[in-house]
Amino acid sequence: MKKKLEMLEELQEVDQLIDSLKLSQDALKNELNDIARSVNDAGEELSLVKARLVQLEQEKTELEALHSAELENIQRSEANMKEIKTNKEFQAVGREITAARKQVADIEEQVLQKITQIEEVSAEVAAKSALFDELSGNSAGRSEEKQAEINKIQQDLDADVARREALAKGMPANLVKRFSALRDQRRGQALAIARDGYCMGCNMQLPPQLYNNLFKFEELLTCPHCQRILILKQQSL
Ligand SMILES: [Zn+2]
Repeated sequence: MKKKLEMLEELQEVDQLIDSLKLSQDALKNELNDIARSVNDAGEELSLVKARLVQLEQEKTELEALHSAELENIQRSEANMKEIKTNKEFQAVGREITAARKQVADIEEQVLQKITQIEEVSAEVAAKSALFDELSGNSAGRSEEKQAEINKIQQDLDADVARREALAKGMPANLVKRFSALRDQRRGQALAIARDGYCMGCNMQLPPQLYNNLFKFEELLTCPHCQRILILKQQSL
């Protein structure tokens, strides 16, 4: 029985080792994903500002075309004025020209605004481009480092899983099954130390008869409160 308990303790130890290795490995995998995501995000942001720049430049080109067209209209109207006979017609064309000149001034104002916006967005493109280059430049190295750590932990994991299998093979199958089920139920802790009449798993007092029976090492005993398998440890060993 004592031997059985020792094996269970060893099994629990390996299981905890495996759990903590998996946790470390998961954290590293998350970091690896974060590296890839940050490069991806920076690339997407860069594409967005680049697209904005293209759009602004296109809008500026359209305004400039409109500007030329309006100037041509004014020139044409001014040429027509020479042919006009009546005063009424002359005034009408004069009003057209005044309206067109106002339109031209408006367009010029809008072009200036576009130029300012283009300068701002160009600066943004440069900044985001630099950030993207920096991130993508060092991401390969950082990813490799993380992957190497992940692989190293995997080796330890493989070794510990093999150790657990060997250990479990040397134990009665129903005992391993019971241990594993209990472990799932009790947040990774299937065993509890019994000391000074108490279960250290749940800190409850054990029935005196049960506690006394632990000293006999005749059968596996479980805590009536938390159901964990009890391992007797008098004082700190
Ligand atoms: Zn307990």
